[in-house]
Amino acid sequence: MNTLLPTSIVGSLPKPSWLSQPETLWSPWKLEGDALVEGVQDALRITVDEQRQAGIDIISDGEQSRQHFVTTFIEHLSGVDFDQRETVRIRDRYDASVPTVVGAVSREKPVFVEDAKFLRQLTDQPIKWALPGPMTMIDTLYDRHYKSREKLAWEFATILNQEAKELEAAGVDIIQFDEPAFNVFFDDVRDWGVAVLERAAEGLRAETVVHICYGYGIKANTDWKATLGAEWRQYETSFPLLQQSSIDTISLESHHSHVPLDLIELIRGKKVMLGAIDVASDVIETPEEVAETLRNALRFVDADKLIPSTNCGLAPLSRDVARGKLRALSAGAALLREELAS
Ligand SMILES: [Zn+2]
Repeated sequence: MNTLLPTSIVGSLPKPSWLSQPETLWSPWKLEGDALVEGVQDALRITVDEQRQAGIDIISDGEQSRQHFVTTFIEHLSGVDFDQRETVRIRDRYDASVPTVVGAVSREKPVFVEDAKFLRQLTDQPIKWALPGPMTMIDTLYDRHYKSREKLAWEFATILNQEAKELEAAGVDIIQFDEPAFNVFFDDVRDWGVAVLERAAEGLRAETVVHICYGYGIKANTDWKATLGAEWRQYETSFPLLQQSSIDTISLESHHSHVPLDLIELIRGKKVMLGAIDVASDVIETPEEVAETLRNALRFVDADKLIPSTNCGLAPLSRDVARGKLRALSAGAALLREELAS
């Protein structure tokens, strides 16, 4: 990519109201069968158009083809029974009824590859596709078969690697793994988390990203954030390990978060996707605010390695607010680009 400070969203954007209930996370589809396939494709057309009109450089699917960033992927695998449900604590934060792993997990067929091919046809700009990370996947399941978080994570890494390679063959330029669990299970991150993530990304020519965040602006997350104190130092465990890893880009929260900026120094040499848009607020940032957040990070990351981004997904916001935030992101990046050129 030739543009300095290429902008990108992390993941989700709001869906059209005819596809699923707006301003609601993980809301069920309003269509089914062929109508759903067509509806998802129309939503992809719109999401690409919205990103392009806002001046976003790296185009994503906006998660238009999935109901949930983890579950939709797992639904396509065998070995997981969605009718047998158990209540578990997700990321040590909130209880949820989750499906059960009842046998060896495997991927009988591609999950998102057809959607990625469709997205590829819609734009000549670089495209990015997000997959759930292995540790985040195991955290949304009850495991009756492997009875080992680590074993199940290695199995998922193999499956994710198969999917990632086919996404790459479909023309995806950047493959992202979402690992919010890296901000919670520090011992696992140290013992096997990063190694398992590298397995998921093994052999890819596409650029690789790991997105680690403090989650959507839902109550369970904002309550949790309130307990984290004045300085959020969770990245301190994963960053030194990721700096040594094969992953190209690290995606992190910044704007309105309490993450000390100097933690970015721990991933010096890697590309940094920096969150300059708050996803837990309806207030649209000004371009100046975005530029300031990005400018402050330049003490710890070289400009040619900085990718202005959002803190996390924008799905729960209204479409107007999300569009406004996309425009602010690209306008803020443009301000800083001008500054750096002069
Ligand atoms: Zn996130």
